Amino acid sequence: MRKNIVAGNWKMNKDFFQAQQLLTQILSYTRNSQPSCEVMVAPPALYTSMAVDLLETSGVKVLTQDVSAHQSGAFTGEISASMIKSLSAFGSLVGHSERRQYHGETDSHCNRKIKNLLEEGLTPIYCNGETLEQRRSGQHFEIVKNQTEVALFSLSAEEIVKVVIAYEPVWAIGTGETASPQQAQEIHKHIRTLIASKYGDNVAQEISILYGGSVKPDNAKEIFSQEDIDGGLIGGAALEVTDFAKIIEAFS
Ligand code: PEP
Repeated sequence: MRKNIVAGNWKMNKDFFQAQQLLTQILSYTRNSQPSCEVMVAPPALYTSMAVDLLETSGVKVLTQDVSAHQSGAFTGEISASMIKSLSAFGSLVGHSERRQYHGETDSHCNRKIKNLLEEGLTPIYCNGETLEQRRSGQHFEIVKNQTEVALFSLSAEEIVKVVIAYEPVWAIGTGETASPQQAQEIHKHIRTLIASKYGDNVAQEISILYGGSVKPDNAKEIFSQEDIDGGLIGGAALEVTDFAKIIEAFS
């Protein structure tokens, strides 16, 4: 069964005390209002332990923003899937467009990262999406198809159902520009159809596909109401509890 999910990606924001404050606010919000979707947060990795401890009783799941494509060893600065598991976190974002743009991450890296997470029993949230030039030249369907195939299609059916996908058109991330609900829906449907042709419809119907790209309290409801959209990966609007809560409430 596809799950509705709202996940907040804090990126490189908040010092320790600000992070503690926001986590505490999310804790009291979720305790008081019992969200009707799954809620996840991806704070900077330094705060993973604190987030897991503070949110333990809330049902909110903690993610990291990235994971190494390697398992262990001489990879300075990297964080492995087994380390994430050892902190009792739920999973990790993989292939966020900022990782692709500033750190040269490719879909083959994503494939290795996803496999490492799955081996540890963690949930990968695999991000893909086209750039503005690719959309302007009409390549968006093809780009997303290639990304999905390279990153995911070597997984077995039992593995791929454990992956969450986030379609995030690069031109809509942090720009204030949102894909229209129809533009987002047609790519979500495209991704689900690709999965159905490779793994069958039952598998495709198990996978949550989130939309990311300037989701705000005032557009969340319309975006989430699209047939193939199962929630959102939220950047800027996840940094204040009031906005994040309003987006969560788009599901109620
Ligand atoms: C993101 O970083 O994944 C994102 C969607 O950011 P924003 O909501 O700020 O566009």
